[in-house]
Amino acid sequence: MVLAQLGGSISRAIQQMSNATIIDEKVLNECLNEITRALLQSDVQFKLVRDMQTNIKKIVNLDDLAAGHNKRRIIQQAIFNELCKMLDPGKPSFTPKKGKTSVVMFVGLQGSGKTTTCTKYAYYHQKKGWKPALVCADTFRAGAFDQLKQNATKAKIPFYGSYMESDPVKIAVEGVERFKKENCDLIIVDTSGRHKQEAALFEEMRQVSEATKPDLVIFVMDSSIGQAAFDQAQAFKQSVAVGAVIVTKMDGHAKGGGALSAVAATKSPVIFIGTGEHMDEFEVFDVKPFVSRLLGMGDLSGFMDKIHEVVPMDQQPELLQKLSEGTFTLRIMYEQFQNILKMGPIGQVFSMLPGFSSELMPKGREKESQAKIKRYMTMMDSMTNEGKQISNPKLMNESRMMRIARGSGRHIREVMEMMEEYKRLAKLWSKMKGLKIPKKGEMSALSRNMNA
Ligand code: GDP
Repeated sequence: MVLAQLGGSISRAIQQMSNATIIDEKVLNECLNEITRALLQSDVQFKLVRDMQTNIKKIVNLDDLAAGHNKRRIIQQAIFNELCKMLDPGKPSFTPKKGKTSVVMFVGLQGSGKTTTCTKYAYYHQKKGWKPALVCADTFRAGAFDQLKQNATKAKIPFYGSYMESDPVKIAVEGVERFKKENCDLIIVDTSGRHKQEAALFEEMRQVSEATKPDLVIFVMDSSIGQAAFDQAQAFKQSVAVGAVIVTKMDGHAKGGGALSAVAATKSPVIFIGTGEHMDEFEVFDVKPFVSRLLGMGDLSGFMDKIHEVVPMDQQPELLQKLSEGTFTLRIMYEQFQNILKMGPIGQVFSMLPGFSSELMPKGREKESQAKIKRYMTMMDSMTNEGKQISNPKLMNESRMMRIARGSGRHIREVMEMMEEYKRLAKLWSKMKGLKIPKKGEMSALSRNMNA
């Protein structure tokens, strides 16, 4: 089950429970069974799922809850906590420091997405002001150097490798030396993979590691292996000092949940996840915000960081100002639709907000969603300027809607559907009301407050 679907199934189960007039044992069991099914489909280990169910039942003792207690909230919180527990390895990873040279070595099987991930990792840090460099010590796979070179050139990141040299240790050492001299603060060494775990692969990894003395070894793994991730992560950890894991292809595979929980069970921190083939389809992995987003509760801290990271400085104040006012006019919706279609920076930001991406633009159904957004935009094109300034849906009466339908050649039912969407988004938007407009540097403190 692709993650968005997993999240959707879990939040639907919680929603259904919330819709019940009385929450009794039967309703709670139905909800938990639904969640169990979704997690098992995502290949989460049976024992973990069973433990989670038992723990929730222990915490949520319906009989003990005094009348008046908000059972829904307690249940929802228990589900949230248990999911966090399942994904939390309980151990932070070593984090390289900007301005101080760190060597980071990447290991993993062939095809896991290692080379792509090296560049994503370098690009991510480069955007944050680091000076990264890439070294291709993969002499096993023909074409590995070309691939790294191509990716690095696209991202304008310095690289080192050789077509002639067959000794990976020599290349790794030379590359690291060169970039140390050039004062790069993040030297990334891509090592070779093999099709399966075998002695030759582990031996080569050990040699490269001994020669380059990396500050951090990152193990890259494809999420499609699901709970088998446990054995794979253990095997790599036993051969080389793996300090962190990156799980790739979380966009397209059914077993992402299983892979993440299995890695957590090996006590290895997952630091990023890969969510697509493109350079910027790469996300910091942090358990609590991740679970929040999975459950459609939104990730406000990620949201604020993303604004800071991707919205051009000169556009930040305007966007934050609009958010802080909390007034969501149809014109703002129109502008956000334009951004989402372009998937430009602000489109990416909005994908962090609950509802904007998961419901409006679910992964895998982008085409249909785009068609829907375009349809809404055509209808809005036939609105007057005055109409677009409306921020109170009650003002959108029937005669106005009829006029929009006629003007855009659409059925009134579709205009009503668009207004429903508007109301839903306006509600999300209003949660940002009163947002204190932060100065640079205050962003993370603010997001911590918002999440508290
Ligand atoms: P390597 O052999 O481990 O170095 O793997 P590559 O970096 O060559 O990646 C193998 C394939 O997986 C390529 O087609 C990549 O574009 C693709 N890939 C890597 N990461 C992701 C990801 O997060 N999502 C998706 N959908 N594809 C990915």
